[in-house]
Amino acid sequence: MSVSTLASAPSLCAPLPVLGRDVTVPLVTGGEVAYAALDYAASAPALQRVWDDVAAYAPYYGSVHRGAGYLSQLSTDLFENARRTVAGFLGCREDDQVVFTRSTTDSLNLLAAALPADCQVFVFETEHHASLLPWRDARVTYLDAPRSHREAVETLERALADRDPYGPALVCVTGASNVTGELWPVRELAAAAHAHGARIVLDAAQLAPHHPVSVADLGVDWVAFSGHKLYAPFGSGVLAGRADWLRAAEPYLAGGGASRKVSRRQDGGVDVEWHDSAARHEAGSPNVIGAYAVASACKALTEAGFDTLVAREQHLVRAVRDGLADVPQVRFLSLFGDDAPRVGVLSFVVEGWNSSHFAAALSAEYGIGVRDGLFCAHPLLRTLLGSDPQAQGECGSPESEPGEKSLNAIRVSFGAGT
Ligand code: PLP
Repeated sequence: MSVSTLASAPSLCAPLPVLGRDVTVPLVTGGEVAYAALDYAASAPALQRVWDDVAAYAPYYGSVHRGAGYLSQLSTDLFENARRTVAGFLGCREDDQVVFTRSTTDSLNLLAAALPADCQVFVFETEHHASLLPWRDARVTYLDAPRSHREAVETLERALADRDPYGPALVCVTGASNVTGELWPVRELAAAAHAHGARIVLDAAQLAPHHPVSVADLGVDWVAFSGHKLYAPFGSGVLAGRADWLRAAEPYLAGGGASRKVSRRQDGGVDVEWHDSAARHEAGSPNVIGAYAVASACKALTEAGFDTLVAREQHLVRAVRDGLADVPQVRFLSLFGDDAPRVGVLSFVVEGWNSSHFAAALSAEYGIGVRDGLFCAHPLLRTLLGSDPQAQGECGSPESEPGEKSLNAIRVSFGAGT
């Protein structure tokens, strides 16, 4: 079937077991097609265990931190227990705060809004836009893409050595790339940051679903992740780490829940005392079910153990690489080399194919759902593909400007259930 006829092809719907659930997915070509969603890096389907926990909570649903009634108290307990579970999952230090947010993007924007005055920020150009863009109101230095772990540390050290040594500074780094899947030397970068009096936030959106993350062991000051990439439903995320900058900052959102005391002044204005706890940045009625679901996913991953998950993912990464090794048209993308340690995420381009067409054909002809595009990491894609004519298709990817030559690639990513 040609790509152009795909859109008009009639869809068949068949129930397929996905993670123990029967879900209905469209099978465009019919026949014996198995639908595989190899797009866990975008969003990992919530675990059955998480849905079960949420369903068990549903009858006891109540507003948190507000009511004297039993249901409200129960919800409050569940919400605060969820915070403790997440703190344990992330190996937080005793006085760290866990703030529930909407996502990694939200968490990093919260931290950006809480930066002390005159803070300098250092971020590699290779970051996902969620870690690249929130700092634009600060004094931000964008660092060139390194080609090895060592170069990453040296690049950061050089930049930090040149900074104003007396002001506050923050380094933002991702634990695992959403494009290449490659692991970054977080521990070493954290040590370099601290040696120069800077702090560091870890974007663990791709790392946390695949590897244990310990804030204390890695020596990072904050960590951010998203529930929907960690087998919980959409709409919840976490920022965890040092309390001091968070406590000193204006609340991320102003409103009820964040304020301890509000009073009218003589001059007619309003005075507010904000909470010092995580509630300071959680104004409004919080997403209790989201927090509860994230905690349930953290427990499920801890109980299942990362070893089995990692072994399975590494097996799949090898299977894809070995399977495509003899196809000379395929080029895998990497910054640190093909053999660099990575999570279950791989991107590649195929000579002679526009990546969007290739991904559409994989879905329609073989029922394999992958992602194509620039993966919200445009500078990284330009670094990886800029000089590669294979990646420059005729039609723009959804993320390219009209008239701009498209630079896009294909990504496959694995998780529990693949
Ligand atoms: N950071 C990385 C490395 C990501 O891969 C993503 C999403 O793909 C994000 C941040 C943003 O996550 P969210 O869209 O859940 O805010």
